[in-house]
Amino acid sequence: VYVVTDACVDVQDRSCVEECPVDCIYEGDRMMYIHPDECVDCGRCEPVCPVTSIFHHDDLPAEAARFAEINAGFFAGL
Ligand code: SF4
Repeated sequence: VYVVTDACVDVQDRSCVEECPVDCIYEGDRMMYIHPDECVDCGRCEPVCPVTSIFHHDDLPAEAARFAEINAGFFAGL
């Protein structure tokens, strides 16, 4: 599963949305979120993000590790 991190906050470029084959990247108030149950791990979103905000959950930088739960939590709250 891929994860959007804080680099997306107030950027929301949306290039990732264009690339995602399953439309699993959703818009929140200040950043985008990837639905963990819908992401098919294709990796297409990661290279198109202009601010490098998207990582595979296994490759999350330590300072952004909490964003795996933050992405999942966005959908749990809907
Ligand atoms: Fe969508 Fe693929 Fe990115 Fe998952 S890895 S969010 S399926 S573009």
